[in-house]
Amino acid sequence: MLGSGSAGNSALVATDHCKILVDGGLSARQLVLRLEHCSVTPEQLDGVLLTHEHTDHICGLEVLSRKFDLPIYCNRLTADALRCNGLLDRHRNWRIFETGSEFSICNITVQTFPVPHDAVDPIGFAFHAGSGGLGFVTDLGYATKMIVERLRQVQTLMIETNHDEKLLQNDMHRPWPVKQRIQSRHGHLSNTAAASVIEELLSGKIERVVLGHLSRDCNTPELALTAVSASLAKRGKIDIDLHIATQSEISPRFRIGDTESGPFQPTFENAFFQTT
Ligand SMILES: [Zn+2]
Ligand SMILES: [Zn+2]
Repeated sequence: MLGSGSAGNSALVATDHCKILVDGGLSARQLVLRLEHCSVTPEQLDGVLLTHEHTDHICGLEVLSRKFDLPIYCNRLTADALRCNGLLDRHRNWRIFETGSEFSICNITVQTFPVPHDAVDPIGFAFHAGSGGLGFVTDLGYATKMIVERLRQVQTLMIETNHDEKLLQNDMHRPWPVKQRIQSRHGHLSNTAAASVIEELLSGKIERVVLGHLSRDCNTPELALTAVSASLAKRGKIDIDLHIATQSEISPRFRIGDTESGPFQPTFENAFFQTT
């Protein structure tokens, strides 16, 4: 995780042959700096994959894509939303896919699925490469059956623990409609809601959970970790590796699984994507 929180989100998913940026919600300068910490230059990226068009997921993209002409992978409505607001109207390097489709970027298979959130066509991902599977869901009001099914197949999960319900209710700065939006079925997962989703995955392959997208004012890393570890302890599952991703720092590098080493013939499915 290059950074995660209500003010900006971006992650690097990589194999020996493939480097994908998932969302670009930090400034371009921060993205470049944090990639550098991971020994990756922007030129080495195979593309940027987008969950949805909210600012905290895309704000560095305009500058980054102007400088480096990176392919942007997203669904049609998200691309239209980004072009309509003038942000990426000059960007030409689009790879448009349909929500629900599955495709490969080099040796990473990307499964996409819709998530309930107040954006035009928000999605989550399950990445598979070799023996490893990574689930990636931020910005969702609740987990549908389909989401749970997809996430049952992964060993590592990145999931949002957006807010503590009490802190949100007591928050003096947010007007009531905003609080309602956050808590709605198209808003964000609270710590306890995320804990229940994780509980549903315990019969699957899950081994490691990374919590992220914490609200700056209505959550703390301690509250999120406590809520999730308490629910795991209740289920007798204390062997799950639990981490928290923060806004200001890069997370440790998580090794998700093994891929075959040696030469790789890219099976890049250009024909799969529409370009504009
Ligand atoms: Zn967000
Ligand atoms: Zn959002």
